[in-house]
Amino acid sequence: MIEYDVIVVGGGPVGMGLAIDLGQRGIRVCVIERYPEPQPIPKGQNLTQRTTEHFHFWGCEPELRAARTIPQNAGIGGMTCYGQLLTDYNYDWLNRALVKDYYFTANERLPQFATEAVLRKRAAEIEAIDIRYGWSCTGLLQDADGVTAEIRQREGEASDRVRGGYAVGCDGSRSVVREAAGITQTLSDHDRLMALLVFRSTELHQLLERYPDKAFYNVLTPELEGYWQFFGRVDLGTTWFFHAPVPPGTTKDSFDFTSMLHAAVGQPFEVEFEYIGFWDLRFAIADRYRKGRVFVAGDAAHSHPPYGGYGINTGFEDARNLGWKLAARLQGWGGEGLLDSYDLERRPVFASTADDFIAAFIEEDRAFLERYSPDRDREEFERMWFSRNDAASEVAAFEPNYEGSPIVSGPPGGLCSARGSHVHEARAGHHLSPMTLEDGRNVYDRLGAGFTLVRIGETAPAPGAILQQAEALSVPIGLVNHSGDSRYGADYVLVRPDNYVAWAGSSPEEGAKALARAVAFGV
Ligand SMILES: Cc1cc2nc3c(=O)[nH]c(=O)nc-3n(C[C@H](O)[C@H](O)[C@H](O)COP(=O)(O)OP(=O)(O)OC[C@H]3O[C@@H](n4cnc5c(N)ncnc54)[C@H](O)[C@@H]3O)c2cc1C
Repeated sequence: MIEYDVIVVGGGPVGMGLAIDLGQRGIRVCVIERYPEPQPIPKGQNLTQRTTEHFHFWGCEPELRAARTIPQNAGIGGMTCYGQLLTDYNYDWLNRALVKDYYFTANERLPQFATEAVLRKRAAEIEAIDIRYGWSCTGLLQDADGVTAEIRQREGEASDRVRGGYAVGCDGSRSVVREAAGITQTLSDHDRLMALLVFRSTELHQLLERYPDKAFYNVLTPELEGYWQFFGRVDLGTTWFFHAPVPPGTTKDSFDFTSMLHAAVGQPFEVEFEYIGFWDLRFAIADRYRKGRVFVAGDAAHSHPPYGGYGINTGFEDARNLGWKLAARLQGWGGEGLLDSYDLERRPVFASTADDFIAAFIEEDRAFLERYSPDRDREEFERMWFSRNDAASEVAAFEPNYEGSPIVSGPPGGLCSARGSHVHEARAGHHLSPMTLEDGRNVYDRLGAGFTLVRIGETAPAPGAILQQAEALSVPIGLVNHSGDSRYGADYVLVRPDNYVAWAGSSPEEGAKALARAVAFGV
């Protein structure tokens, strides 16, 4: 008997986000999570504007803001330094506020365990979600009608089976679900062992008071060949995390981590370690995100070094992309191809994130450190160093989009990619820019759980064909009329449930076809 529509294995950030997305749509979800509490490792801190939009739609954005561990008036900017942290060779880095006008909500910074606590609380409020904390998934079988998850109590002997229509592995980079489904991965190994340290030091806070409004710091040295020494604040004044490459074979007891921190900062300071851990620096991407009734999302689908803070944000976008598609299929208004489009949209975006951003950071830093040195030519080094982040191109260029998706009416030859541009014009396959309507509310306040048709100007032809198509296909759709100034550059904008534009144009007949395409019912 199918007890649940969807089994979500792994109640980390991505699994909980997906469960909320589904549960809010009335989809019956069972989450299997092995830990009763979020793990107290302060990773995944840097939350983009797009991620806070998800929290808005998941009904817990104020709670996310309230859970911030750095006071609201303290800055959350970043800084890159040459040689050591305490240096005048530094510049502002990854200033995500540069693209704030293109999103409805502002970016945020808080430790992942705090984010997870917010999501767990929100999920507990939704009746359609059952959560089995303290249970591990040990295997998964699928057949023509559904999936069966084998689960076992983590501390105890009990075992059980849960049956659902679909399963999504949100169980992290060592995903049991991915393995059980036979989904292979492509790995690119950087052959580096990384240490992750969490430590307390009020003295470091005092030393860094000279750089106000900063919450994360990256120290580049030529010896590390483009790999980072990264400091991040966990709170304001006391707790920090740090990651950097360490020699192969390093263990907790075989290495002087205090001296490594002192060298990275540029002077001794008191340090009290709370946690010392390791991971292998590598990129991994699942060769497919779907196999039959099984999907993978978040780190189960892709993992990479935490450079640039893309991991949790990319995982949340997976959840948002898959949530409405699974709901549409289960509720009968999405075609089978809609489920395939999850892989077709999200996998190339991750590949591009890995190549064009994360690996590019490492390669560009390495090339710079090889080419320029204050010891060889100080004047040339200073000119090049201080012009490095002038355009902050990595923030502006990171604009995941689905121009090449088969369910989007994008431009001929379009591709799905993380590389794009921020403009307000509505473009098929791109995130919808916010816009104030005549009544003073934002269009984002009017976006519902289904599709939204934004009609601009009183001269736009009647939308009958699009609305009739929606009725014929049982696609939930809301109509927003706006007759003031518009930044969208089209009479009509058809917005998907994940706030991406499916189509922008002026012909309602074209719009009707685009809607059928957007839910994967033949055109
Ligand atoms: C040092 C560091 C810093 C980082 N900084 C950033 C950052 O600033 N920004 C950013 O976006 N990302 C960052 N990341 C990456 C981010 O932490 C991950 O991308 C994120 O945790 C992925 O979330 P997830 O839910 O997919 O997987 P996970 O967080 O790994 O969650 C998986 C969940 O599944 C559970 N689970 C696993 N196996 C089973 C099983 N068999 N049965 C039941 N439950 C299971 C686990 O207990 C866990 O709760 C950082 C990572 C590191 C290591």
